Amino acid sequence: THFGFETVQEEEKTGKVYEVFENVAKSYDTMNDAMSFGIHRLWKDIFIDRLGPTHDSKLLDVAGGTGDIAFRFLNTVDNLSSKQCAAHVTVADINRAMLDVGEQRARDLFKIELPNPRIQFVEANAEELPIEDNSYSAYTIAFGIRNVTHIDKALREAYRVLRPGGRFLCLEFSHVNNSMLQWAYDQYSFQVIPVMGQLIAGQWKPYQYLVESIRQFPNQEEFKAMIESAGFQYVTYENLTFGVVAIHSGFKL
Ligand code: SAM
Repeated sequence: THFGFETVQEEEKTGKVYEVFENVAKSYDTMNDAMSFGIHRLWKDIFIDRLGPTHDSKLLDVAGGTGDIAFRFLNTVDNLSSKQCAAHVTVADINRAMLDVGEQRARDLFKIELPNPRIQFVEANAEELPIEDNSYSAYTIAFGIRNVTHIDKALREAYRVLRPGGRFLCLEFSHVNNSMLQWAYDQYSFQVIPVMGQLIAGQWKPYQYLVESIRQFPNQEEFKAMIESAGFQYVTYENLTFGVVAIHSGFKL
């Protein structure tokens, strides 16, 4: 607004989000397993399955955090058993602490040195990617876009860095389409998750933020329209677990 009020709120959001992930980085993977009963692993497996990476895919995984999507991508292309694998993944995240955990996991899981031709980690804001136009064949963002302050900017950046023919794929919490499940999910989100955060990670606040940010994120149709506004075509979505999460897909033509 003209009074600068929005700008202050926006800066607060970016700073708050940074603090949240800096605080949770070390317990992030453990907490994901605990809070979702391990289901986030299945969601991510399905996500990579939908992406269908090939031996020459060049993937940019934004808000890539501790590397879950990137590692699944590399495991999938490794299993393709094509001799000349030129696949590459770039993990971009705004938070150094999350990237540090991701880099260490990459070294441990793949027994590699970093930097490496197959995977690189970059500190970057989804709203302003330090990446050339038309340079990736796929862009993924998993449980990341709801943390971004200006979602429209991030979507435009996704469009910009993708090559023509490139695929945008987003995995994010969404809106549940079943009232019984909605009730149970609300109880769980507001009563259980913050307590779990306190018990396992020693912190309550970040998990309260998590629940609130999920509530505030646009629903499936609204988010689809936002993706289309950024220029993507053939935009579709698929609900997983009754819409607890959704996968949105679009193409740059
Ligand atoms: N993609 C990973 C996964 O699925 O496990 C990590 C998801 S984690 C819930 C959200 C990540 O988004 C954090 O690592 C956070 O630092 C990152 N993030 C938040 N705002 C961002 C932004 N504006 N640009 C890039 N990354 C951002």
